[in-house]
Amino acid sequence: MTTPFSARRRALARLLPQAKLDCLLVTHPANWFYLTGFTGESGALLVSQKGSALVTDGRFTVQAGEETSGVRIVLQKGSLFESIGQFLKTAPIRRVGFDPTQLTIAQLGRVRKFAGARLRWISAPGKVETLRMRKDPSELAQMRKAALLAGEVVQHAIGLLKPGIREFEVAAEIEYQMRKKGASGPAFETIAAFGSRAALPHARPTAKRLRKNELVVLDLGVILGYYCSDITRTVFLGRAPGRIRTWYKAVLEAQTAAIAAVRSGATCGDVDTAARQVLTDYRLDHLFVHSTGHGLGLEVHEDPRVAKGQKTRLEPGNVITIEPGVYAKGVGGIRIEDDVAVHADRTEVLTRVPRDFIEL
Ligand code: ZN
Ligand code: ZN
Repeated sequence: MTTPFSARRRALARLLPQAKLDCLLVTHPANWFYLTGFTGESGALLVSQKGSALVTDGRFTVQAGEETSGVRIVLQKGSLFESIGQFLKTAPIRRVGFDPTQLTIAQLGRVRKFAGARLRWISAPGKVETLRMRKDPSELAQMRKAALLAGEVVQHAIGLLKPGIREFEVAAEIEYQMRKKGASGPAFETIAAFGSRAALPHARPTAKRLRKNELVVLDLGVILGYYCSDITRTVFLGRAPGRIRTWYKAVLEAQTAAIAAVRSGATCGDVDTAARQVLTDYRLDHLFVHSTGHGLGLEVHEDPRVAKGQKTRLEPGNVITIEPGVYAKGVGGIRIEDDVAVHADRTEVLTRVPRDFIEL
């Protein structure tokens, strides 16, 4: 029976001969989930053209059998990497690929020791990540739901903002709402940054209380059905001074320009340039201290990077964030972030929350 998982394993297996690999060792949990549906916390997957084997320990073998189909489940004996090595020792393969960004030197040493000298170990980074960039219809359907839920939660959180509330209270309420609405949790640590703390792009919630005439940056994402969303809205408590309004207008125009630049065939660098050019025109580019966006999917930061000079070309099925911002020490920050899917003939904004400047 063909499932999305078996189709992905076949797509991966088709890539192996050109990389001169008989087999790929997959040790990153998001990657083995993508290829099998297995949600256990420990294991490793071996994919070859002849089939796939998932090595996991006794806590997860029943679960692995239930969650996967068409995958041989191998009971781990001894340590994980010892077991993988012993399994490979007798397998009819010679060239094994591994991802050096995910396998530690100690793990590689161990698996090699038990697999014996017959095998060749070949660095093969990013193979599964490349496939994961192109979401299939079932993934896109799930990502739409995750994006809509993040939108509901950010709107709820904006309704809570009043003088005296603390950053960590807002962050806690955001994460409570996510869980209450069915998310398995936040996709990353929620950002609720008030006043000058909003100048930190990755501020952690503190006991700071919200005061009149402060900016508020809310950046949150949910994990729903294993897929992440990521949204940022910036609001002002009170009537904003002219400078803040101009900055907001600039960031919104930069984001709109970047979203307009998203299309199949454009490079990620082109999309970054579109945002950066608007902020340059406003003479604010020196306050835009990060890249324009990132890929989104099973993980909150995945390929492709939407950054200066990135040559990766967008293609249908890609989902990326577009999140320009400006940050000024002592003043605060403004960021607007939405999730965008690339289709052959159009761009779909998955997050559906108004982007007009809100003054509370
Ligand atoms: Zn974000
Ligand atoms: Zn983001």
